[in-house]
Amino acid sequence: MIQFHFRTMKAKGNPVLVFDQQLTLHSVWEDRTDVITGSEIHCQVEAQHIGEMVTVKGTLKARPTLRCARCLSDFEHNMNVNVMELFFEPSDVMQIEEDENIHAIRDDLVVLDPYFAENVSIAIPNVPLCSNQCKGLCPECGVNRNETECTCTSERLNPKFAALAKLLQSDSTH
Ligand SMILES: [Zn+2]
Ligand SMILES: [Zn+2]
Repeated sequence: MIQFHFRTMKAKGNPVLVFDQQLTLHSVWEDRTDVITGSEIHCQVEAQHIGEMVTVKGTLKARPTLRCARCLSDFEHNMNVNVMELFFEPSDVMQIEEDENIHAIRDDLVVLDPYFAENVSIAIPNVPLCSNQCKGLCPECGVNRNETECTCTSERLNPKFAALAKLLQSDSTH
């Protein structure tokens, strides 16, 4: 768990809290069927009291195993997620709008785990691909085209292409 005490930080001026630790956040991975294995999340973040707010920023690193949407093979995906979350204590003087990165605190103790979980969760690709060049599976015979070249498509299209090639050839000979 990564946490800080808002009022303690405020009282101490502008100390910087540095966190460098691994978090296990199962909720990040469990809803996705294309996440084969989740991973620990390496959090390298700093919290600092600035003005009336505590800013939390840094990087979250994870390396889950995902299933490619095209070829259905499993691959390790490197994630480097930048985070920036702001926290403030609501008061009559402070009129700050909350949004997805700006949060009004309810308790002095702020636990960052759910915010980090959210950041990593939305960074998982909607359509995971083992590579942008992934050729996928052949719809005819089902082989993984990254590993094996099959002749299904070319055989199917050959008659047309052959006729076209013949036309073009006879054209260019004139
Ligand atoms: Zn693939
Ligand atoms: Zn094929």
